[in-house]
Amino acid sequence: MPIDPTLPYDDDNIFAKILRGEIPSNKVYEDDWAFAFEDINPQAEVHTLVIPKGRYVSWDDFSTKASDAEIGGFVRAVGKVAREKGLVEPGYRLLANIGAHGGQEVPHLHVHLFGGQALGRMISG
Ligand code: 5GP
Repeated sequence: MPIDPTLPYDDDNIFAKILRGEIPSNKVYEDDWAFAFEDINPQAEVHTLVIPKGRYVSWDDFSTKASDAEIGGFVRAVGKVAREKGLVEPGYRLLANIGAHGGQEVPHLHVHLFGGQALGRMISG
């Protein structure tokens, strides 16, 4: 069920619980700004989620309200995870879903990192 990205941040969302360590995740990276873990239902050979540590519902919320340090730290973390997974030379894809048309289901900003295989068309029908 897609979320409404204009709603206030919900501290009970599943990724907030993962960040707090209240539910388990397969962590692959963490620093002051970001946390990365494997998607529970992978859509590619590599399907990792990277989330900011701050309380941001979506890319819209983050790009509006996050500090330059949070944005810089998060963007650098996404790149670092991809490099550490050896994805730069073969290539990879980043995706952030926002709201209903984007199909966003979890109301904490997350960037999907896909790789490990040719990824086909950008948008499926
Ligand atoms: P969205 O559609 O919001 O962009 O993507 C949400 C993603 O979160 C989906 O790919 C889904 O498989 C993943 N996901 C949902 N719940 C969990 C969970 O509890 N653990 C992990 N690791 N991934 C989750």
